[in-house]
Amino acid sequence: MDFSHLTQDRLRTLGLLDRGRLGNWIGGRTVPAQAGRHLDVSDPATGLRVAEVADSDAADVALAVQAAQRAFASAAWRGLRPADRERLLCRLADLIEAHGEELAALETLESGKLLGVARAIDVGAGAEHVRYMAGWATKIEGSTLDTSIGFPPGVGYHAYTVREPVGVVAAIVPWNFPLAIALWKVAPALACGCTVVLKPAPETPLTALRLAELAQLAGLPDGVLNVVTGGAEAGEALVAHTGVRKISFTGSTGVGRAIGHTALDRMARFSLELGGKSPLIIFDDMDPVRAAEGAAQGIFFNQGQVCTAGSRVYVQRRHFDAVLEALAAQAAQLRLGSGFDPATQVGPLVSQRHLLRVQAHVQQAREEGARVVAGGRRGLDSGFFMQPTVLADTHAGMRIVRDEVFGPVVAVMPFDTVDEAVELANASDYGLAASVWSNDLSRVHRVVPRLQAGIVWVNTHNMLDNNLPFGGVKQSGYGRDLGRSAIEQFTELKSVCVAY
Ligand code: NAD
Repeated sequence: MDFSHLTQDRLRTLGLLDRGRLGNWIGGRTVPAQAGRHLDVSDPATGLRVAEVADSDAADVALAVQAAQRAFASAAWRGLRPADRERLLCRLADLIEAHGEELAALETLESGKLLGVARAIDVGAGAEHVRYMAGWATKIEGSTLDTSIGFPPGVGYHAYTVREPVGVVAAIVPWNFPLAIALWKVAPALACGCTVVLKPAPETPLTALRLAELAQLAGLPDGVLNVVTGGAEAGEALVAHTGVRKISFTGSTGVGRAIGHTALDRMARFSLELGGKSPLIIFDDMDPVRAAEGAAQGIFFNQGQVCTAGSRVYVQRRHFDAVLEALAAQAAQLRLGSGFDPATQVGPLVSQRHLLRVQAHVQQAREEGARVVAGGRRGLDSGFFMQPTVLADTHAGMRIVRDEVFGPVVAVMPFDTVDEAVELANASDYGLAASVWSNDLSRVHRVVPRLQAGIVWVNTHNMLDNNLPFGGVKQSGYGRDLGRSAIEQFTELKSVCVAY
């Protein structure tokens, strides 16, 4: 199937055909790559090139960090009244919504995701997140504390804490929800008075560049939000730069671990939102068809390219066959296509490289004895599509049950007792999310505390909220995004002790 006419139409509407090479956004203007290197950005539904962006190196990163340092030092942003930072961030949220169709189309063009998902999550929820964090700008607080200092006699002490912006923040983000995850970092950092260098993934840099332009339009001072595009080299340079005081990273566990080591060497602050291998536990008091629908949503949403994707499904034995059959039937009927086609239910994976990786995982599972109950192959004959895939006859020792695939591939396994379900769910290096499917309240409340996960859902999966801290335990990360925790991540606590 050929979707190139849809891509060409969008490119024309967005004016991308005329924009040529896109530079970095530094200090409030476009700056070409210092070494003149560029990266292609492609539409995963067609493989067509949609833009060329800077492939930044340490020199580009240094320019961006300098701009952010200058903006931080000038106090043009952190010196504003919190209510003014709030107002400007709310204006940015309004502009994101006003340019929502354009931003959503850019997201679909570069990542392949469904236009409806880009509208709802990256744009809709993204703008709400900016407003939510804008509200925090006026609510950052410290405490007054009693002390027991008894010396010298006759002297009293007044002690309190204040939260201060940490400084220049590096925000390094992946390609699955490029705009939404960028905003998860940019919005709280700005609300706290920090300045930011944002590095999007090389596959999906376009919405980040547009966001920076919108921030300028909203009235944010130059240098407060900078964007450098590029790959690992740009990311490494950013993490190593001594001007960066905090690194907020979302991506794979391997890269996150390396970032943590580098950051710790110079005691830069860091938070890491990493990979997952999230279990669903379906008890036999649930309707198997409803549970299978939940499981299908849990794994096939965004083509399974979701860090919390429910890629391990454990079903109590009595309903195992029914859930497996219903899930396989749903997988088989999902319609693959371009994210721009409203009839599409599953878009392409982000790149050929990623498609090959997902296919290799499935091939290895086959070799280790897994049974393919649905899908299992590349989908369509052009673009980077993977069929929604359901596997059975898998067990805890297999790579497909241990490794993050980050694609539309789910392993379904039976269990008998509550203890066995908990043990299987926790038998993972990861600990990002889990969900429990049961209407037995007592059982739910007994199971939830035993699950090793940063977030546990009951009778739903993949549901996030701006007010709900988000992050992982074990190899899934360090620190929390969203909610009040995000504000704590972008501020330093200063204790003040006044003798009188
Ligand atoms: P990735 O780790 O390859 O890349 C993420 C970002 O880091 C990109 O911008 C990349 O250019 C940059 N990068 C790569 N190497 C770097 C280095 N050495 N130093 C600094 N930066 C570097 O991940 P990806 O393939 O873009 O995204 C998929 C991964 O992200 C999956 O593992 C997924 O689980 C994870 N993810 C986690 C969450 C979460 O909130 N926990 C959300 C989305 C995605």
